[in-house]
Amino acid sequence: MTPEEFRAVGHRLIDWIADYREGLADRPVMARTEPGEIKAMLPASPPEQPEGFDAILADVDRILVPGLTLWQHPSFFGYFPSNVSLPSVLGDFLSTGLGVLGLSWQSSPALTELEEVATDWMRQLLGLSEAWSGVIQDTASTSTLVSLLCAREKAAGFAMTRGGLQGEPTPLVVYASSHAHSSVAKAALLAGFGRDNVRAVPHDEAFAMRPDALDAAIRRDLAEGRRPCAIVAGVGTTATTAFDPIAPIAELAREHGLWLHADAAMAGSAMILPECRHLWEGIEGADTIVLNPHKWLGVAFDCSLYYVRDPEHLVRVMSTNPSYLQSSADGRVKNYRDWGIPLGRRFRALKLWFLLRAEGAEALRARLRRDLANAAWLADQVLATPHWRVLAPVPLQTLCIRHEPPGLDGEALDRHTLEWVEAINRSGSAYLTPAVLDGRWMVRVSIGAELTERSHVEILWSKIRRAAGAA
Ligand code: PLP
Repeated sequence: MTPEEFRAVGHRLIDWIADYREGLADRPVMARTEPGEIKAMLPASPPEQPEGFDAILADVDRILVPGLTLWQHPSFFGYFPSNVSLPSVLGDFLSTGLGVLGLSWQSSPALTELEEVATDWMRQLLGLSEAWSGVIQDTASTSTLVSLLCAREKAAGFAMTRGGLQGEPTPLVVYASSHAHSSVAKAALLAGFGRDNVRAVPHDEAFAMRPDALDAAIRRDLAEGRRPCAIVAGVGTTATTAFDPIAPIAELAREHGLWLHADAAMAGSAMILPECRHLWEGIEGADTIVLNPHKWLGVAFDCSLYYVRDPEHLVRVMSTNPSYLQSSADGRVKNYRDWGIPLGRRFRALKLWFLLRAEGAEALRARLRRDLANAAWLADQVLATPHWRVLAPVPLQTLCIRHEPPGLDGEALDRHTLEWVEAINRSGSAYLTPAVLDGRWMVRVSIGAELTERSHVEILWSKIRRAAGAA
């Protein structure tokens, strides 16, 4: 493809995306395809001869779009918001179009320096002190893995770096809430802690980690000859958006000399609102933080911010320095390859920078406040309606709800819950995700897609009542 051909089809593709975004509300939210249906419509082998862009785009419309569940739809209330604001789409597009790679500062200096600036802008917006240095990773899962690798090496005095998994004679233990995201256990496993050395610390009635139970677990491990190593605190857990109390947890980390990682993957975006920052009070006592602007904030996936207090330790754990990557600038610049796992790095800062510049912090705060108000409105409706329950506190934009008609409990109640949520999802008019809480199915209503206004939440609430047979 020549640049001239690219110009022509590129403009058409931008038009296509704009039309698609404009028409989202008229499409079904959940894909209505059966497993294997999309694959069956695609040729099993690649073309030998070039195909025209018309044919490719026609297949996008005919085959792929019907197989999409629409995360940007105004009635998407599933999982968590994963907003891809249009300025960020352009930043991502530009990143790919520039076709540069960050292997070292010298391999593309602007890539590194914009990442320094954009992560520092975000640090300021989040109200974090200057003690934090940021880097962009692909996902929270990767950031948590990097954090636990650093925790392990700190506790073991770099014994594992030297001696591999046999380097530490005493088992090292990781602590996280019983409601921690599955990526925490996975990271602990990949970092070599072993499943037996990951403690699921009990939670309180608000589903937050109990510091007294954490203290007891640490003391038990010490008494039994194990070495407590790291705590992962949830800043907004996945199921209920519970906030593990960071200040007392950080105090315990200090007392016992443990590493503290804060997983704020989803809820971290809320910290651009000063009124939400009490939810992570004590955060300055953590060693590392991860938060995903690719969730609620609106940066195109993937953009996971990883903040560290001790970049030297991170670099010591992660650094590689082959001759072909060395340059005369080394020592005066950041080489972000030493701040994470991959060597090659995309120009991810562009999509964050585009969003922050094109929207401005004020508009981002206003959007998040709109979502908080919508969630509070819905919580009021649910609480005021007989036989409906809000099962967990609603600190941000996610509600956990259940319809409990008289006479229904146990498995019959589970069946009822799954039936009404499935009916809504199959209708294509809204999308919700059920999950198990305390052994029973409930439904999460996660509000915060960029296009979701109060009217969409009002319509959802009447759909929910009708689907549950309670209207
Ligand atoms: N941590 C929490 C609290 C989450 O809610 C999620 C995703 O839902 C993750 C971690 C994993 O995020 P990622 O997909 O960026 O690895």
